Amino acid sequence: MKVEWINTQASNTVVEQLNALLPQTQCGQCGFKGCRPYAEAMIEGDADINQCPPGGDEGIAALADFLSVPTKPLNPAFGIHKPKQVAFIVEQDCIGCVKCIAACPVDAILGAAKFMHTVIASECTGCELCIAPCPVDCIIMQPVSADADDLSKREKSALAKRRYEARCSRKKQDAVEKAERTKQKKAVLANMKLAK
Ligand code: SF4
Ligand code: SF4
Ligand code: SF4
Repeated sequence: MKVEWINTQASNTVVEQLNALLPQTQCGQCGFKGCRPYAEAMIEGDADINQCPPGGDEGIAALADFLSVPTKPLNPAFGIHKPKQVAFIVEQDCIGCVKCIAACPVDAILGAAKFMHTVIASECTGCELCIAPCPVDCIIMQPVSADADDLSKREKSALAKRRYEARCSRKKQDAVEKAERTKQKKAVLANMKLAK
């Protein structure tokens, strides 16, 4: 599937629209580092529309409709579509290592170093990215009934997208500030050497 777009601006807009149709769990099961890179790959013709297990057949149909191509079944090589789940931390086993917080793309885990952590269920997308980093295996996935959600799938995806983008902006800002601190520290050390 190769789709030609008129210019970069139009391409970016289309990527954004395609990205907005994806579940925004940022789980990487599609083979890309998040939903937007997968949307970009589809536009470039480097990925097919049936690689997102969280989106399932409904998601594939939406992508097919948007791109005006025939729909197709989910490619099982990328995983299976599971019912909605959220992470739950067995708090008495948590050692407060904060590794799960670092792994969560939507900041859905609360906690501080050496204190027990907890998942904000309403913000959890069920991506499972916090499971592997936990050194004591105290994070489990629990099913959620469809009725328990006040928001539609589209609203949940939009919320996850906002939280993910906010986290990315914060991390970018943190990196800029860290680089600035390092620069200032080097300048102070260089001045101290000159003064000797
Ligand atoms: S939700 Fe779908 S598109 Fe987004 S990273 Fe996971 S598999 Fe890829
Ligand atoms: S708490 Fe775990 S499963 Fe839930 S969004 Fe964060 S990383 Fe994903
Ligand atoms: S990774 Fe596991 S042990 Fe570490 S803070 Fe998270 S839940 Fe607790």
